[in-house]
Parts: sequence; C-alpha cells; structure tokens
Amino acid sequence: MSKLNLPSPEVMYRAVVDHDPAFEGIFYVGVATTGIFCRPTCRVRTPKRKNVEFFPNTSAALHAGYRPCRRCRPLERGDAPPVVAKLMAEVESEPSGRLRDADLVRRGIDPSTARRAFKRYCGMTFQAYHRARRMGLALAGVRQGKSMLDLQLDHGFESGSGFRTAFNRLLGTAPSRAQGVDCLYARWIETPLGPMLALADDRGLALLEFVDRRGLERELETLQRRLKRSILPGSHRYLEQIENELKNYFAGRRLAFDTPLAMGGSAFQRAVWNALLAIPAGATRSYAEIAGVVGKPSAVRAVGRANGDNPLCLIVPCHRVIGADGTLTGYGGGLWRKQWLLEHERAHAGARGQLALRVEHRPVEAPASAS
Ligand SMILES: [Zn+2]
Repeated sequence: MSKLNLPSPEVMYRAVVDHDPAFEGIFYVGVATTGIFCRPTCRVRTPKRKNVEFFPNTSAALHAGYRPCRRCRPLERGDAPPVVAKLMAEVESEPSGRLRDADLVRRGIDPSTARRAFKRYCGMTFQAYHRARRMGLALAGVRQGKSMLDLQLDHGFESGSGFRTAFNRLLGTAPSRAQGVDCLYARWIETPLGPMLALADDRGLALLEFVDRRGLERELETLQRRLKRSILPGSHRYLEQIENELKNYFAGRRLAFDTPLAMGGSAFQRAVWNALLAIPAGATRSYAEIAGVVGKPSAVRAVGRANGDNPLCLIVPCHRVIGADGTLTGYGGGLWRKQWLLEHERAHAGARGQLALRVEHRPVEAPASAS
C-alpha cells in the first residue's frame, strides 16, 4: 500500500531535475520519447516535463512498455555480473520471443546460474522480466490508442517487426492486417491501483484486468480463441462508459457499474459470477456461501477457481469473496489491491447507509443455471 502514494508529479519532476538521491527507490521515471525508464538520479540528459511519467516500481514501468536505461540500470543493485547484462541484451534482441533453457545454452549461458544471478541483481525472476517487457511492448499500442504505425515510430523501433511480433504473439493478429477486421477494442485505463486493460465490443465489456496481473497473457489468448476476434486499440462507447464509471468508483462517488457485460465462461462460471454480482459493495461472502448460492454447496474449490477466472475484475466483484475465517486469501490482482478495494467500499458504502440495498448490476447475458 505504501507504494500507492507517490509524491506529487511536481515533486518527482523536481527530483529528476536535481538528481535527488533521496528519491532513490521511491519512484522510477519513464521518458516517452525514448521508451526508456530511469532511476530518479539518472545523469542522462534531463527529459522535458511533458515527456515523462512516473512509476512506483520497475514492474509497472516494464508493463507500460519501457525498457531499463543502460546508464542508471534501474533494475540492478550494485554492479551486475556480465551474465545479467547478457540476458537483458538477449531479451532486447527479440523482446517478443521466448527464451528457453536450450536457447540460453546455445548462447553459451548456463541457465541456472543466469537465473539465480538475474533474480539477485534485478529483484525479479528472468521470466517475470521477460514477460513484463513482452507485455509492455504489445500493450503500448493499447495504452495510447494510436495507430500502430504512429506507435512504432514514437517508440523508436528501427523496424516494425519487433513491435509487430510482440503485438501479434500477445493479441493474435498483426496490426497491419487487423484494420477493418471485426474486432474487440482495447483501452488502457489508469487507476489509483495501477493501469487496467479493458476490452469491449458491441456486446459489452469482455475484459477488465490489471495490466501487471499474472495470467493476463493467458486470459487474452483464451478470449481471442473464444471470440475469434483480433484485439485493437481503439475507442468504443462501452470503453468510454467503463472508464468514466471507474473514475467515479475510485473517487467514491459510486460503487455500482452499469456498463453492459459480455460474459463468457461455462454455465457454472457464469452462475458463480452472477452470485458475485449480487454481493453488495461493502459486504463480503465466503467461498462456501457462494457455493451455497449457486446450489453446489460441496463445490467450494470449484467456486474458488471460477472466482479466480473472472475476467471482469472489479465489475464482477471477486474481491468481495474471502476465507470463512475472515482472512483475505488470494487475489489475482494482488492482496494489497483486494484490501484496498474492500476498505474503499466499506468506507463509501457505509457512509451512505445503503449497504444491503444495492443490487450492483444486471448482466446482459442470463446465466444458464443461476437461481
Ligand atoms: Zn537512466
């Protein structure tokens, strides 16, 4: 939670201009014109205010499509062993690819030594780094809602191929071919808990997920297979609607969402998700209670799985399901977010005295087996 409250942008920009060591580790700064992120103390030419953005951690910067600066090395602590530098260079040579152990061996890198060193110096596993970098590049387009060509040029890709490949692997169809194809529109939405990815078409909102969530890649692939659509950055009335509703949600002005939902999933999953939609803001339920609601009291574990597979984070409030003993248990978006959301909802629902009265949402697609 402490990472949530970054200093004001003015304060952070001043720190960048002054190379102020007091801010080391507090935030990282991305420079849009170069696609590189730095420590606040970096001595590389001071960027213009309008070109910078700030991140609470390196993972957020990577997921936003930035790569680490070679001068200030924001991922590393102390001097990096050559093997770490080598691994990073391998990733940059083909960010969208996947490096298996055999690939490393072929490049003269011992996989287990390399991975240990990487974790020690970068504070994250090599896989986590590579994934964040791949996601960041592919989602860069979604983030800006620009045309792919503009993006490629803005981000300084010498050739479009790296960018296109990243986008292709993650979102399915190469952007140049995706023009005019029946598609899902994607938008990057900034929230106080970090950026989210939203996907929608005329049927409704199909996905809302925190960008740094583990498993987002798999979720996108599943969605793409199910809908047989390509995904493109763009505008859609439901994306605008959900962005607006999220803004109000985070401001505590409303806790309910009205954007139509395009729910997929099995009959059982939809039954669980609809049971979640019936939990009022400010309240929580246990997995066993949800299992009871869907008429399968012994299927507690399956309820837990369906809960975790929910593609409409926040809207279908899987964060309102907790352990029978009141502990938070798991959350795909991270426990700190779950805690934040529950506290936020308790504070605002309680304040209005409408705790038990709210019916959150009426889903578009009626579930096959919900009560
Ligand atoms: Zn730097």
